[in-house]
Amino acid sequence: MLTGMHVAIIGGDARQLEVIRKLIELDAKLSLVGFDQLAHQFMGATKLRIDEVDFADLDAIILPVHGTTLEGKVNTVFSHEQIPFTEEMLLKTAKHCTVYTGISNRYLDDLMKAVGRKYVQLFERDDVAIYNSIPTAEGAVMIVIQHTDFTIHGSRVAVLGLGRIGMTVARTFAALGAKVKVGARRSEHLARITEMGLVPFHLNDLEKEVQDIDICINTVPHFIVTASVIAKMPAHTLIVDLASKPGGTDFRYAEKRGVKAILAPGLPGVVAPKTAGQIIANVLSQLLYADLQKRKGNG
Ligand code: NAP
Repeated sequence: MLTGMHVAIIGGDARQLEVIRKLIELDAKLSLVGFDQLAHQFMGATKLRIDEVDFADLDAIILPVHGTTLEGKVNTVFSHEQIPFTEEMLLKTAKHCTVYTGISNRYLDDLMKAVGRKYVQLFERDDVAIYNSIPTAEGAVMIVIQHTDFTIHGSRVAVLGLGRIGMTVARTFAALGAKVKVGARRSEHLARITEMGLVPFHLNDLEKEVQDIDICINTVPHFIVTASVIAKMPAHTLIVDLASKPGGTDFRYAEKRGVKAILAPGLPGVVAPKTAGQIIANVLSQLLYADLQKRKGNG
């Protein structure tokens, strides 16, 4: 339980509603900022404007998945207003107050360095990334179905990268009956791909390996699906780039060559906002509980 803990949830989207539900269930005291347009009233949570928050009383602050803008504003789909998140506010908090975000940016990095409060980027954690790989892979299946006129079963799929997303995507497409090969650069990854019953190849051989594929799914956050790679693909190949913006594909050249290429970021929030919210809520509640125990001297 999180009884006695005061948490401010500032802005966000549908995923944050799962966080609110979970923390109320665990008996935390919640201050909600940026939820004024949300019709639902949560028992045990108070909707406030940012200037009404008692920062000195807070044990934790939860920002949305995207944190803030580069100008230090928090976006929220439940209010017409962007909410400022400033050094002045954070300096009012107790030393133990921890700030949680999905991902960081230059503004937040600089701000958190200046105020010296504990700062957690949830999406950098392995557990969150692995849980998130499940809705991401389902989203990739959805995109492939929407953009092809052939079944996944029996199609030749190249997955690039065997990280947390690549592994789940490769498994999912193989489970649907696709002939999956996976490109990686580390020998232990090539060994793991073999162990998974899939076909490994070194990314150095990418140009050769794409000559006979129907679908290419990139998870490598670097520019690897270059014009010379795309030039070798059959014209009907569908490229789905899951790597974070700007992706790892030469989209300009793909369009010029008539190869369909889709950048598909943020799939968990699109295909399964409830699950994506529960993933964040579960990990957050564990981290908040650990924080509370530590402060009580039980950690
Ligand atoms: P990860 O676990 O770090 O895996 C990245 C993979 O890319 C690893 O296999 C890594 O291999 C490889 N790689 C990195 N740099 C490379 C390079 N220069 N050349 C060749 N291979 C390279 O990351 P992840 O969690 O799987 O996430 C992958 C991407 O998907 C990220 O950009 C992430 O933000 C994004 N993502 C997208 C969605 C979505 O909805 N589309 C959802 C979640 C995450 P090494 O181990 O050899 O470096």
